[in-house]
Amino acid sequence: MAQIIDGKNVALQVKLEVKEQVARLKAKYNVTPGLAVILVGDDPASAVYVRNKQKACDDVGIHSRTFSFASDVEQKELEILIGELNKNPQYNGILVQMPLPKPLNSRALLNMIDPDKDIDGLLPSNIGKLAIGEEALYPCTPLGIMVLLQRYSIPVSGAHAVIVGRSNLVGKPLALMMLAANATVTVCHTKTKDLSEIIKQADILVAAAGRRGVIKGEWIKQGAVVIDVGTNRNESGKLTGDVEFEQAEKRASFITPVPGGVGPMTIAMLMKNTLAATERQIR
Ligand code: NAP
Repeated sequence: MAQIIDGKNVALQVKLEVKEQVARLKAKYNVTPGLAVILVGDDPASAVYVRNKQKACDDVGIHSRTFSFASDVEQKELEILIGELNKNPQYNGILVQMPLPKPLNSRALLNMIDPDKDIDGLLPSNIGKLAIGEEALYPCTPLGIMVLLQRYSIPVSGAHAVIVGRSNLVGKPLALMMLAANATVTVCHTKTKDLSEIIKQADILVAAAGRRGVIKGEWIKQGAVVIDVGTNRNESGKLTGDVEFEQAEKRASFITPVPGGVGPMTIAMLMKNTLAATERQIR
């Protein structure tokens, strides 16, 4: 039976570390890190994510403010706000909650954010730095996965890491991080042939497809590490991952639950990134 990777607990530890650092920063420089969140429209899931982020900020002592707009807000108005936030030293991190309602151009807005305040790590310059191994702000979800592996002393170097999903948010940046940690990386997507055969070779499997049960438990290699990023709802509205948990749990050495695995780490890493952005701006 696999050991459960307790993302909630690791996230709590990370947040406690951030809280200590935030207090140190305040004592030494009289600076409180600040996070600006831009929320457009009334998508209930986005509202919950933003509330959770604000609560995490409160927990660690980061100042946060949500700038809320109706779904018919003009692109120009958001651009002006981002321009102002870029210049405002009270805010060290800027986050645009995705997805944005149509016809807003998300990429154009993201690209306006000062790269040093891009605490989601989604700007081309930050992704580019990740690709060439330079210090930068890295995307929170893949970063959270790497921290989980580290805290559970799971060796990445030399492992065959199979990542299912190639999004800019999860799969691609995670592939770069795994490569930097000396894994041999295979990235799968909807055009991949023989998905099951590739997954059977994985020492570390990361499922980030966003399709409930797409990864069958019987495909998991005996002793593999399974990280399930997927957040899907089943028929009764319960949150589930991409991997058939019960079957996979019997074969894996370590496995993340959904919920309580990768999810809490994403928010914890957002706190860490906001702190890191503040420290870089002070320097
Ligand atoms: P996304 O942009 O929709 O990307 C999904 C990726 O999975 C795509 O590359 C897609 O391939 C691939 N894929 C989909 N179905 C597949 C299949 N049957 N076989 C192989 N590959 C398949 O999603 P995302 O933003 O990366 O998110 C992925 C999942 O993680 C979602 O459930 C999301 O909610 C969850 N998530 C959770 C957190 C968290 O904090 N817990 C954070 C971020 C995302 P193509 O490129 O060929 O279309």
